[in-house]
Amino acid sequence: MNVSKENFLEAWFPRGLVRNGNDVLSAQVSVEGLCPLRIAWDKGKIISIQVIESKSALPSKFLLPRLVEPHSHIDKAFTWNKFPNLKATYEGALEVNLEEYKVRTVEDVRSRSERALNIALRSGLRAIRTHVDSFGLSGHQNLETLLELKREWESFIHLQCVALVPLEYWDTGEGRLLASRVASAGGLLGGVIAPPFDNNESFLNLLKLVQLASQLNCGIDLHIDESDRYPGYGIKKLIQVLRHTDVRVPITCSHSSSMGLLRPGELCRLADQISHYGVNVIALPLTNSWLLGRYSNKTPITRPIAPIRQLQKAGVIVAVGGDNVQDPWFPLGRLDPIELISLSMPITQLAPWYRLGLAPFTTSAAAVMGMQWDGTIGVGSPADFVVIDASSWTEALTTKTKRQILLSGKWLEKNEF
Ligand SMILES: [Zn+2]
Repeated sequence: MNVSKENFLEAWFPRGLVRNGNDVLSAQVSVEGLCPLRIAWDKGKIISIQVIESKSALPSKFLLPRLVEPHSHIDKAFTWNKFPNLKATYEGALEVNLEEYKVRTVEDVRSRSERALNIALRSGLRAIRTHVDSFGLSGHQNLETLLELKREWESFIHLQCVALVPLEYWDTGEGRLLASRVASAGGLLGGVIAPPFDNNESFLNLLKLVQLASQLNCGIDLHIDESDRYPGYGIKKLIQVLRHTDVRVPITCSHSSSMGLLRPGELCRLADQISHYGVNVIALPLTNSWLLGRYSNKTPITRPIAPIRQLQKAGVIVAVGGDNVQDPWFPLGRLDPIELISLSMPITQLAPWYRLGLAPFTTSAAAVMGMQWDGTIGVGSPADFVVIDASSWTEALTTKTKRQILLSGKWLEKNEF
């Protein structure tokens, strides 16, 4: 990496991501909540934040802190071409995913995951939580490959691996061995709770998983209620389990889509329970909008999606993730955090100029991943930015110019990888 001679930037920056309000008291804040700042750094850390007062010298750049992708599947990224799911149903995706899984090699996993990490780095990501198909022998190899990449990429992208297996697997000898391995590598235990459900089995599987995670002091991230049926069934089951035990570990509910179909009163009561137990939620609007509520010859009017606003109102930390990258579950997706904000806008009606509209992509995503740096800036914060040629949110979200990435105060050059 080349050390730049210029160790400051003048740019528009979201006021809500400045940690200390005193730093920007005199700033002229635009209607979109942006303020013009001169940010200087040294040795990888911010050393000063100054307000640009002069209206004749307003910047033409737009800055965001490097961002966080809280839910991805990089081990199966770019498999759509060989394994398309043209009917684009949830069941079809699962079927094609299993076909691909049978022929998957370590080399495949390494090469597509590296491709994904390269794209992610240049798009502006600093961390990714990825769910890794981890069932059986090839699953074990998958996971080890991702853990190797985690070590190799640590100075560029922090990778968190969630071992994704059938829920009941965690209660087998092999499952417990896998759990120890995952916990020792700083990963999380994962699984899927979606219809069809078996009442007792779901409860017991979840209870055992929570107890196992607690013994290992390890977090859990579940694919839960990724469905347009049985509204909120999986989350209700999880809440029953949490009521039944004193055990507390960090738990994330990814998807939580069918919960959005509950009646308002029931939805609010469930959101309060989720908040009470400190469970986090990751909404995945792109894959949900593509796969769920799909019936032939029908354009869906009701879209199953996590009820983001109602959850926020109840005090739940909600992040938004991009999920699949050109695989049987979703043919689009490219680990681009700015594009994710943009594409999520019409689906979720989250507006980045409001605090609760931006948080799911920034501070809340960092909180769900338990990141040390929450993504706000102040003196001493990492000099880690995505720089875009823009002076408003609309321009930033639609401009297709080259992005510049500042990583620990150094410019990321194109030919370094
Ligand atoms: Zn997923």
